[in-house]
Amino acid sequence: MNSKVQTSLAKDLLVIKNLQAGIDGKQILKGLDLALRPGQVHALMGPNGSGKSTLSNVLAGHPHYSVSAGSVLFDGKDLLKLSPDERARLGLFLAFQYPVEVPGVSLFNFLKTADTSLHGSSDFKEFSQSVKEAAARLKFDQSFLSRPINEGFSGGEKKKAEVLQLSVLRPRLAVLDETDSGLDIDSLKTVAEGINQFRADSAVLVITHYFRILKYIKPDFVHVLIDGRIAASGGQELATRLEEHGYEWVKHGKL
Ligand code: ADP
Ligand code: MG
Repeated sequence: MNSKVQTSLAKDLLVIKNLQAGIDGKQILKGLDLALRPGQVHALMGPNGSGKSTLSNVLAGHPHYSVSAGSVLFDGKDLLKLSPDERARLGLFLAFQYPVEVPGVSLFNFLKTADTSLHGSSDFKEFSQSVKEAAARLKFDQSFLSRPINEGFSGGEKKKAEVLQLSVLRPRLAVLDETDSGLDIDSLKTVAEGINQFRADSAVLVITHYFRILKYIKPDFVHVLIDGRIAASGGQELATRLEEHGYEWVKHGKL
């Protein structure tokens, strides 16, 4: 590997510094710092209401959230100045905690449109074949491809549809907000495999308050968000200790 490639691999893809943000006049993120490199999987854990979804909404550019301080660089660019569409084009993908239903747009057509917008036009047959293969890997019945996105999908099927988008669209950074909730154990394993297949050259931020998916994903780093700040960071062992002792243990500083 030449030194130029090594330098680019070692570069941070996402750098969040002192992020302070809120909604409707309420401050939720109170100085959050986080950096992710390509090929790394970070898990962001934390109790309900700690600000996990607020972070994903701010990264997505949700108009209801306002940023009062701090910076977010994505591939060296000021992410907060970009429109949600520009963020997606740069390779940022967000799977929301509550995926929206899109009546009238089939999952396949959505994937095709998104893929063309991100990567340019491709051979229809080849694309359609790759979507079918990705669906099969996720044990996702092909009939879902012709159904309107998420309409009448169960919680678990919505989550699989998100991971299908991930494997087809191949973003550079995927932020997955509770993609594991509502999944039975077999679906959880399949979704984790989907994420693992994807992680080789992209970065993933897995937001969750459950420990079980981390057994299959094995993140490189685990962070605990408490009251809008990262209260502790570590490796997989941190998740194991949290599972035994709960978040109270981090809150009271007994690390
Ligand atoms: P998490 O995803 O970690 O459970 P959220 O980011 O969803 O937490 O929420 C963080 C906090 O922000 C919660 O206390 C929640 O009640 C509050 N919150 C969310 N939306 C609003 C709103 N529109 N107005 C005021 N507070 C809100
Ligand atoms: Mg949430």
